[in-house]
Amino acid sequence: MSAKFTQLVENAQHLLAHLPWPAEYEKDTFLRPDFTSLDVLGFGGSGIPAGINIPNYDDIRQAEGFKNVSLGNVLTSGYKDSKITFLLEEDKALYTKYKLSSFEVQVGLHELLGHGSGKLFMEDSDGKLNFDVDSTTNPVTKGKVTSWYKPGETWDSKFSSVASTYEECRAECVGIYLCLLSDVLKIFGHTDDTADDIIYINWLNMVRAGLLALEFYSQESGKWKQAHMNARFVILRVLLEAGQGLVSVKKIEGEDGKPDLVIVLDRAKIISVGKPAIGNFLRKLQVYKSTADVEAARQMYSYYSDVNDQDEPKFLHLRSIVMDRKQPRKLLVQQHTYIENGKVQLKTYEATPTGLIQSFIDRFPSSDIQDMVCSLMDKERPYF
Ligand SMILES: [Zn+2]
Repeated sequence: MSAKFTQLVENAQHLLAHLPWPAEYEKDTFLRPDFTSLDVLGFGGSGIPAGINIPNYDDIRQAEGFKNVSLGNVLTSGYKDSKITFLLEEDKALYTKYKLSSFEVQVGLHELLGHGSGKLFMEDSDGKLNFDVDSTTNPVTKGKVTSWYKPGETWDSKFSSVASTYEECRAECVGIYLCLLSDVLKIFGHTDDTADDIIYINWLNMVRAGLLALEFYSQESGKWKQAHMNARFVILRVLLEAGQGLVSVKKIEGEDGKPDLVIVLDRAKIISVGKPAIGNFLRKLQVYKSTADVEAARQMYSYYSDVNDQDEPKFLHLRSIVMDRKQPRKLLVQQHTYIENGKVQLKTYEATPTGLIQSFIDRFPSSDIQDMVCSLMDKERPYF
């Protein structure tokens, strides 16, 4: 994987030029990220990410650059044996075949060119601007740039509660937008027919994720509980809004007689309808970000994040079906290493809830954790 990522970074300058914003909105020079692919032997935490991109502080990324660590074997182990919901029968085989390779393209673009792209317009403490206010136009208003980050303001301080999901959405959009370039697909070894299939499955995976995202929306509080899933729902809504039969969510009767859903993507319309729709949306995401226009950003983002039954398709109703069909959460049982007679030994556990709990107890051998786990088990509550 890392050789492909190296090539992606080496071609960054020319690939970034394809993004749907004027050159002034791109960093003066792309700061080559430092990145590594690691295979995880054990990960001490309640969840394992597929990749880590640091730092999160965008003002530091602007000048210092960033670092990406891909946890290579997490993807392959996490995707085994999962039941594929909400797809047409004819899509399932292709989805299974290309899910991993299309996700590899999306992750590379998301992490390296997604989070790595775009410039913030800033004023330093001497009143100097890092862009030319006379010659730079705002492609959304077509007027001049009238706002930017004042001394002491950062992306996080300005965008606060929406910063994380908004930025994830921008990176996801960069992924599905740039995966349409044959130069990108070639880097990942996909040409001709495979390239088309990779594009289709990447987009299909995105719209399906947008539907599955409803699991992470709390109807009680009216809030999203996970930044990436909010972002994918927003993308689904943008693509539904594009109309012309690009995406549709159909209600059907499942094999069990209960209501079910299928998400249908017309692959012939990805370039003609999907690309301009995502391009326009992504341009706004970037322009509002560059110009510190948090009001416009919030207004747009909350519009697409809204889960209601007034608009078609009735999202709250769809959510009830998604919740009924919810699959058990995936768990990764962690192995451990220990030293015996001066040699490193590997201890593995069976792939069951018992194995998972035993692994946790061995990893965190304090009595607090044992008490906690045991009291949960005593209650005979299926916590894990
Ligand atoms: Zn991200």
